[in-house]
Amino acid sequence: MTDEAAQQARFRDDVTVELVRHAARDSDVLWAARVSTAGEQSLEELEKDPERSKGLINFLMRDRHGTPFEHNSMTFFVSAPIFVFREFHRHRSGWSYNEESGRYRELQPVFYVPGEERRLVQQGRPGKYEFVEGTPEQHATVTSAMEDSYRRSYDAYREMLAAGVAREVARAVLPVGLFSSMYATCNARSLMHFLSLRTKDERAAIPSFPQREIEMVAERMEARWAELMPLTHAAFNAHGRVAP
Ligand SMILES: Cc1cc2nc3c(=O)[nH]c(=O)nc-3n(C[C@H](O)[C@H](O)[C@H](O)COP(=O)(O)OP(=O)(O)OC[C@H]3O[C@@H](n4cnc5c(N)ncnc54)[C@H](O)[C@@H]3O)c2cc1C
Repeated sequence: MTDEAAQQARFRDDVTVELVRHAARDSDVLWAARVSTAGEQSLEELEKDPERSKGLINFLMRDRHGTPFEHNSMTFFVSAPIFVFREFHRHRSGWSYNEESGRYRELQPVFYVPGEERRLVQQGRPGKYEFVEGTPEQHATVTSAMEDSYRRSYDAYREMLAAGVAREVARAVLPVGLFSSMYATCNARSLMHFLSLRTKDERAAIPSFPQREIEMVAERMEARWAELMPLTHAAFNAHGRVAP
């Protein structure tokens, strides 16, 4: 790696998730649901304490009346490795994405290296893996192999750019451990579906076995959503973390 690039290289074991915009409250579920029986009077829900109607939220969740959970919006800024984004962008319904471009900007040398708490060793069968602690030697091997590989690939990238090669061509050598950034906008219903698949939680009626790194993103999103819509979040947990 060139001296300049070597100085710039950053190795991260975490992800960034920031809630940048939101219009999401428990009462948004209630007026959307109550129009069914109250027509325009459903707007009165805007002024009322949603706590008194948490039974309705629980009923909607339990019986999977999902559409009232769509009348809200949350926009997250996410910075995470490209391999996380590959999994993330499989979620098509109720999600909007915009991601930084490897064609229009020079990609920065920020790379993922698992932290000490990341379980390294996989056991079990596909679809139901368990992960157990790695030894200190395995962690040392992972760290040195990744950092070395990242440095060499970024060096090759810079070499091609210096030779006048287009960014969109040179980026082919960069690994999926490179960090990217995006805005992701969703509603409570699409977020619940994402959380049901991308978190592992003992309250889940249908267990999922997500990769830890996308789960790190999902956990941070869930924490912010729970602050905005605590009654909806509680109902989601109470009914097996199944999206309505
Ligand atoms: C643990 C785990 C392992 C995985 N492994 C693999 C793998 O090995 N290979 C792989 O390719 N993917 C894999 N995936 C990705 C998975 O197949 C889904 O693409 C991803 O979880 C998004 O789920 P989704 O389609 O339900 O979500 P969304 O795209 O957000 O869709 C939400 C819901 O909308 C409905 N819907 C959306 N689009 C359609 C459609 N075209 N037709 C009918 N209904 C639709 C469905 O009800 C769907 O559940 C894995 C996911 C997980 C969680």
